[in-house]
Amino acid sequence: MPTRTDTHTGAITLDNGEVPAIRFDKVEKRFGDHIVLHDLDFTVRKGDRVTLIGPSGSGKTTILRLVMTLEEANAGYILIDGKPLTHVERDGKRVELKEKHRNEMRKRIGMVFQQFNLFPNMTVLENIIEAPVHVLKTPKDKAVARAHELLEMVGLPDKADAHPTQLSGGQQQRVAIARALAMEPEILLLDEVTSALDPEVVGEVLNILRDVARNTDVTMLIVTHEMQFARDVSNRVMMFDGGRIVEEGSPEKIFTDPQEQRTKDFLAAVL
Ligand code: ADP
Ligand code: MG
Repeated sequence: MPTRTDTHTGAITLDNGEVPAIRFDKVEKRFGDHIVLHDLDFTVRKGDRVTLIGPSGSGKTTILRLVMTLEEANAGYILIDGKPLTHVERDGKRVELKEKHRNEMRKRIGMVFQQFNLFPNMTVLENIIEAPVHVLKTPKDKAVARAHELLEMVGLPDKADAHPTQLSGGQQQRVAIARALAMEPEILLLDEVTSALDPEVVGEVLNILRDVARNTDVTMLIVTHEMQFARDVSNRVMMFDGGRIVEEGSPEKIFTDPQEQRTKDFLAAVL
């Protein structure tokens, strides 16, 4: 997709005037000598629901962690809402942006992990209002009111005062989804959010995410092994292997008529 770049800010616009939600531009990520992502390029449009599939170790989590700024790329550029996330190119050099900028950018992004990662010493309500109150500076009464709405939405209206340890895995994950949504993110990153759950509660978590997809225009990057869910919610699937995109397309195309042998082998193993 051709783009226009503002030479001062590094901000980009696509040729059709659209500002992409996420853009990877020749992103390289290494851990030591091990190159995990190779010159990775892709663009996610606003409102897209993109599922990342591929074998373990292919780089899916790393991509999400880069967007969340939990990891930093070694080369290349990541743009969120058309703006550089951590680095910008100036006079041909890769320049790191200030921590303050990074924090501003991070506010637009929510992430839910495989291991719920709730704050164990806080109640459910405190978990949900923590970031809105301390990061967004939302007045506490407003954050509390919104938290109750979100708990209603995830089917846990009576758990506000519970501690995470008193909840089942499925309930904790529903709180984690509410906590991510409390930041009103423009981008929601979901990393195998049902993989640590007992099979009988997987459906309830996926149904909540189906509702989120249906009722909001949040851009979603989804890593999942739940292929039916991927077909239901995503409009695009990217198949990764060894830190590279093997092929991409609509869920219908990738799941029913994959072109690449590696995709066929992967789907045969997981479906
Ligand atoms: P996936 O989510 O597709 O299973 P990951 O993004 O977790 O893959 O991992 C991609 C590769 O990067 C793997 O080879 C993994 O071992 C390696 N890797 C991920 N995180 C680290 C880390 N913190 N230190 C060293 N290697 C890592
Ligand atoms: Mg992973």
